[in-house]
Amino acid sequence: MTKINWHYEQMTSGIHIALRSEKDLVSVETEFQDVSIFETRHLGKVMRIDDGIQVTTKGEHIYHEMMAHVPIIFHNHVKNVLIVGGGDGGSAREVLKHRSVEKVVMVDIDEQIIQLSRKFLPEINNGAFDDPRFELRIGDGADIISQYNDCFDLIILDAADPDGGASETLFTQSFFANCLTALKAEGILVAQGGTPYFEPYMMQSMVSRLTQAFNNPAGIYMGGCYDYFGGSHAFIWATRNGSINTLPLETLESRVTTADIQTKYYSPEAHFGAFFLSKDMREHVDQAV
Ligand code: SAM
Repeated sequence: MTKINWHYEQMTSGIHIALRSEKDLVSVETEFQDVSIFETRHLGKVMRIDDGIQVTTKGEHIYHEMMAHVPIIFHNHVKNVLIVGGGDGGSAREVLKHRSVEKVVMVDIDEQIIQLSRKFLPEINNGAFDDPRFELRIGDGADIISQYNDCFDLIILDAADPDGGASETLFTQSFFANCLTALKAEGILVAQGGTPYFEPYMMQSMVSRLTQAFNNPAGIYMGGCYDYFGGSHAFIWATRNGSINTLPLETLESRVTTADIQTKYYSPEAHFGAFFLSKDMREHVDQAV
């Protein structure tokens, strides 16, 4: 008889998500974290690290497209990108769609995540790890960031929530201060800000930490969300020179046409609309600053 496994994630106090595995593909205890990848009926393949869902093949495109294309289209001449975390390769895949991008450095603490993602989630990394513009560095992002000065147009912080795991070091003020140093004058940092309906404190804390570290107000935009439940996902961004805003729809349409990227979720309209926060979300953000 086939054994049915349920994978549980505590979303917040009093709410657990249970996903039924149709087939367990791999389960490994690495030097840094417990990783499992399994197949589900409605979310496709799921990668879980420690007790948290990291990525699903059904919904990852929303998260990765919004994380990459919103800042790249806004900036308009991104050449050098640093991804901190991101071991499944989805963020790298989206960044590398832009012909303007000359170099992507990805720093992940856990080499085994990249090997497992290559083997079990090739539809997510989709050749990104073999792109000649891609460089992989293995180490703690909090250490490696201090080696860069005035290097990147964009830093993508694609790490799990700071809940006691390996990503804890990536949510400190000293890490964000080093990110600021690593960025060029017009550089942008974007980070995931959690699912705002269930964990508004995550988005609030990221807004206030980035605002403080960059000495400029951090901004927020929203995308839809399959992977982490709760309907919406928050993205928090800040720039060295303080200029963050949405762009007129006509400008977005023109830039997206020029970029000529193939996407499933991201569009000029999705970009434009992502900045219109509902009243309750605006109140949450205002409380943070
Ligand atoms: N999208 C995901 C989320 O929001 O939960 C993040 C997915 S990605 C797989 C997270 C990656 O961050 C993992 O590959 C993990 O190894 C990496 N990571 C965790 N802590 C890190 C650190 N201190 N430095 C660099 N990479 C780290």
